[in-house]
Amino acid sequence: MLTTAPRGTRDILPDEVARWHYLEDVIRAHCRLFGYGEIRLPLFEHTELFQRGVGETTDIVEKEMYTFTDRGGRSLTLRPEATASTVRAYLEHNLPAGPQPAKFYYLGPMFRYDRPQAGRYRQFSQFGVEAIGSADPTLDAEVILLALDFYAKLGLKDLTVELNSIGCPVCRTEYRQALVGYLRAHEKELCTSCLDRLERNPLRVLDCKEEGCRTVTQGAPGLAEYLCPDCREHFRLVQECLKSVGARYVLNPALVRGLDYYTKTVFEITWAGLGAQTALCGGGRYDGLVEECGGPPTPGVGFAMGLERLLLALEQAGIELPGKEAPEVFVAAVTPEENPAAFNLVTKLRRAGLAAEKDYLQRSLRAQLKQANRQGARETVIVGGEEAARGNVSLRNMVTGTQEEVPVRELVAVLKGRLGK
Ligand code: AMP
Repeated sequence: MLTTAPRGTRDILPDEVARWHYLEDVIRAHCRLFGYGEIRLPLFEHTELFQRGVGETTDIVEKEMYTFTDRGGRSLTLRPEATASTVRAYLEHNLPAGPQPAKFYYLGPMFRYDRPQAGRYRQFSQFGVEAIGSADPTLDAEVILLALDFYAKLGLKDLTVELNSIGCPVCRTEYRQALVGYLRAHEKELCTSCLDRLERNPLRVLDCKEEGCRTVTQGAPGLAEYLCPDCREHFRLVQECLKSVGARYVLNPALVRGLDYYTKTVFEITWAGLGAQTALCGGGRYDGLVEECGGPPTPGVGFAMGLERLLLALEQAGIELPGKEAPEVFVAAVTPEENPAAFNLVTKLRRAGLAAEKDYLQRSLRAQLKQANRQGARETVIVGGEEAARGNVSLRNMVTGTQEEVPVRELVAVLKGRLGK
């Protein structure tokens, strides 16, 4: 137990971390283009925020939260998602008084007591955006496009955008009645969870993966026919905007998403190559959430995407990301006697802005050269021998194997020249 990380968590070792840095860099540059500023939120919040913000009847709140009582007796929860926290921060810092919409992005770990499997973890990382303070349909299209252009930038192709509108409280009430009526007539074919959902959150029945429930829901009335004129027009405009920029999507009337706060537009982006966990990104509009969290009526829209799953998809698509960063220069000592001199030189090189590495195990020169190769160093400086007596070092190009003598005082300049710095 002491040597194993908790189930559903994973370490990211230096060999892998360059891929994360790359993704994070692309995300930051991409969000800058779209005018979204980074928000850094706490990893835990008052439990009530998620109960209210995510919804009491959602799987997340009912089954998946890491909730604990702190030493002061407060109930806190490790964040299972970041939309509720963003809304909380928006209100806490009086951002409704600032320019609207306020556009945020976040990057970081989320925690859910999910059943771990490939692409599904208990601690996983999300990149998400939230645009709060505008009901404009171009904003729905913008966040979808932000995600799509991001995947395109990474070279990931053949994504599917599924799109639906789940209406507003006005049209949903009417639809709900029709749906409950239909589901009641098919009660015998539903699973036990859906019988429970039927009372508390009937829309979620549409989301059920059980065979029997799916057969029933295929014949269920669709929300599209119940949308009020306002929601209908909004949905039409979102689609018009997406079409105008060449973004392809498919309408999926069964897409309701697991979180309670959505209104109007909902969407999911999937990549079929992922197998069981095909969902890369999910989001939608949440016009009632800010009010639910105690603020003035304020519309909002956003998405969240899983980064572990994205990395899996990139790997499966054969898209290469940067590997571990190699040292530029390796400093080798001819004998252990020169170890302090090697330390001195490696320090000089680092201070001059070169990524330099040395040996720490008093290896033979031959073994040090092997080590330099294994680490991928492009140049090796050899300290000691007759060259040292002349105030020089040997400089070996690890790619061509050629070696030359260089005065120590010219070393930095020569290396920078060779490394193109
Ligand atoms: P959600 O907040 O459930 O809509 O999730 C948004 C995205 O986060 C999903 O499309 C996944 O890519 C990712 N995600 C959600 N849950 C997990 C999990 N347990 N492990 C890894 N990624 C996840």
